[in-house]
Amino acid sequence: MKRAEDLDVTGQTVLVRADLNVPLDGDGGLRGGAPPGQHNISDDGRIRASLPTIRDLIRREAAVIVCAHLGRPKGDDYAARAAGGPSLRPVADRLAELLGQPVTLAADVAGESASVIASTMAPGEVALLENVRFEPAETSKDDGVRGELAGRLAALADLYVGDGFGAMHRKHASVYDTPPLLPHAAGQLVLAEVAVLRQLTNSPARPYVVVLGGAKVADKLAVIGNLVGKADRLLIAGGMAYTFLAAQGHKIGGSLLDTDRIGEVKAAMDDAAKAGVEVVLPVDHVVADRFDADAQPEIVPGPDIPDGRMGLDIGPATRELFAAKLADAKTVFWNGPPGVFEFPAFAAGTLAVSEAISHVTGLTVVGGGDSAAAVRQLKLPADAFTHISTGGGASLEYLEGRDLPGLTALEELS
Ligand code: ADP
Ligand code: MG
Repeated sequence: MKRAEDLDVTGQTVLVRADLNVPLDGDGGLRGGAPPGQHNISDDGRIRASLPTIRDLIRREAAVIVCAHLGRPKGDDYAARAAGGPSLRPVADRLAELLGQPVTLAADVAGESASVIASTMAPGEVALLENVRFEPAETSKDDGVRGELAGRLAALADLYVGDGFGAMHRKHASVYDTPPLLPHAAGQLVLAEVAVLRQLTNSPARPYVVVLGGAKVADKLAVIGNLVGKADRLLIAGGMAYTFLAAQGHKIGGSLLDTDRIGEVKAAMDDAAKAGVEVVLPVDHVVADRFDADAQPEIVPGPDIPDGRMGLDIGPATRELFAAKLADAKTVFWNGPPGVFEFPAFAAGTLAVSEAISHVTGLTVVGGGDSAAAVRQLKLPADAFTHISTGGGASLEYLEGRDLPGLTALEELS
């Protein structure tokens, strides 16, 4: 893969696909619903992670056009999505603050406004296109539809730099279809992320312990399949753990459950057992009667959760058990918070796991948007982990051994 640092960019206009998909407060915007422009960024980690490449291009006197997505805009066409938001306005403002120079936000993605800005930018200036997902073509399954948008994006610039690691697993117009249309290279963030993930897949030091949590069992099951045979221990917590406990015949009350996946979960546990991988599930829980920051936390001292209660965090015995299972690790990969860390009463499990991993001597990698936000929220020392990945799905798919469309597109020489 060609490096952006090796491109001759002076006096050129460079389109940088970055991942600026930051969590917003309020309803999050990421979950849709709130009016555009009324959000604060609750964790700017992904913006900060994009700075090295943008700064390098500015320093070398390129005009930099940044393309990024935010959340999942809803609506059948551009107008509906742009009206519903979320706009990249707060991201443009934060990026300008961090860069210490103005960032012009285009009023559209690859239309009139973007074209005018692109053709009048001076070297060293930075512009941001509006939320690329306002264009329904960005995520279209139709190659021709995506190709048309890619053509409009490519027309804005002379060169393309792929640096949005968190979106690399998406076969989207700005990620997959645009790089072949311009001379292209990978940005510093993407190269750093890939270097770390390669270390995890090629002969990791043992014991290699993987901690999986978070809400979506379906997303994480495939990676379990691939980790069997690679990892020595698998610690499973968070919302996904209840499907595993249910598969073992435990009562889980009103906890998160993916009924459709129980069969797959059983098969994954059988495979792990055959391969000699130790699977560790929660042995106790912190529960509540509802999913609410103000709900009263109660400890359930065994694996079974009574009806009328839902598990929102791992309990104290599980915190100790997980810490013990991490104590001798030489390699750790952690994706997905073990509890609803956004609610302070249910954040102890996430804190305990973060601290246990921070004491490990060896390669420690945190992947996942929410996991990365959680560890930053906990204000652990900056060197607590070897690497905090900006990619959740992208890191998982890499570890599954799948080709990431965005990387494939950058690997092909232009
Ligand atoms: P990541 O973004 O790090 O990949 P996910 O998106 O899979 O992680 O999951 C993060 C979400 O999982 C968090 O918002 C967290 O509140 C939620 N979560 C963790 N534990 C539970 C639980 N026991 N019940 C419901 N949700 C949970
Ligand atoms: Mg997430």
